[in-house]
Amino acid sequence: MPCTSKPSQASSRLLILLLLLAATFTLNTQPLVLQGANVVDGKSDQPINNVTVIIEDGKISKIIKDGEGIPRGGKVIDLNGKYIMPGLIDAHVHIRSFAAAETALRSGVTTVRSMGVAHFTDVGMRELARQGTLQTPEFLAAGYHVRPTPDDGFFLNFPELSHLMKDGIKGEAAIRKMAEALISRKVDWIKTNATARAGLPQTDPREPYYTEEELKILVQVGAEYGIPVAAHAHGDEGGRAAVLAGVKSIEHGTYLSEETLKLMLERGTYLVPTIAIVNDLVEPGGDYDQPLLEVRGRHMLPRIRETASKAYKMGVKIIASTDTGYNPNSVMRLGLELEELVGIGMSNAEAIAAATSAAAEFLEIDNHTGQIAEGMDADLLILERNPLQHIKAIHDPLMVVNNGKIVVNRVEWTKE
Ligand SMILES: [Zn+2]
Repeated sequence: MPCTSKPSQASSRLLILLLLLAATFTLNTQPLVLQGANVVDGKSDQPINNVTVIIEDGKISKIIKDGEGIPRGGKVIDLNGKYIMPGLIDAHVHIRSFAAAETALRSGVTTVRSMGVAHFTDVGMRELARQGTLQTPEFLAAGYHVRPTPDDGFFLNFPELSHLMKDGIKGEAAIRKMAEALISRKVDWIKTNATARAGLPQTDPREPYYTEEELKILVQVGAEYGIPVAAHAHGDEGGRAAVLAGVKSIEHGTYLSEETLKLMLERGTYLVPTIAIVNDLVEPGGDYDQPLLEVRGRHMLPRIRETASKAYKMGVKIIASTDTGYNPNSVMRLGLELEELVGIGMSNAEAIAAATSAAAEFLEIDNHTGQIAEGMDADLLILERNPLQHIKAIHDPLMVVNNGKIVVNRVEWTKE
């Protein structure tokens, strides 16, 4: 008996394995059919009403008006007039863990640009997400901030550069060395601090850190590898130096003067104003909960709103972001920044574009995401109400789809 049972056990195991493989294969290839949808495409200021969106192999394969050409055998979800919009792009985050990445994704963020994190966590998450190992937003990574005193982790990762600990990252040779070290770890962006930080009580965010000449070196090294530079800048002096040096974006920009904004307009420099996180300095709890920062927030908040509003009215390109780590105690979500962008005068459609199609152009990923259109990645949200009329609808996605995979699904029990 033992001799005959062995092969039969083995063959039944093989059969189960084959069935499992077949099931997985069917699940992966089964089209998702979202019918009765109103589509907010991320560009236009009017929805496309009553269409069927078909998702196959992680992409939006078809958007059908009259119901013809719906594939057989797909998973059909009737949206009953709910709204589909592109997955959100959060252009400034500090995500440090898988759990935080998942929190971002479940809030509707399907792409992030990491603007500073230790130990190349962002590069690692980008790779795991690309492999499909980890269900996270798509990552664009920057590794460490290039600043006079880098994060301790930088020297732990590059002990061979410990000679730079004494004088800090100042002057051409040191700046070049640090930038090349980051590039060797395959970052997509270089992030620098052109001024001091706002979120630390002991630093004054108006203090410039680098000269135009120093920032130019960074931009040049980046350009040699096709990597853009983003400059954190609150104060005007450091901000202007960064714009003149040729950075692609200014992060925050709280105290930028009209002349600097004009330079940004002329040169096509983007502004990523991060207004809502400044409100977090003022509010109890959340990312920041510190009396001195609360006081600072009270004078920064009206100022950053004023500067961002001026920039928008002048025609400077504005991009949405949270500047959060999506930590367990964080209440920052991209919808709050979209409300702020509407508050500075943008239309709902412009604010939505700043977190979808315009953000994708800024990040040069518009060939595959940022829009609801045929051929794009199936990165999308389903909302109960039209965000072109109700911007707050973005706070509560009923469904989140990331590269064709349903991550959040509260649609199927919300239909009656
Ligand atoms: Zn930041």
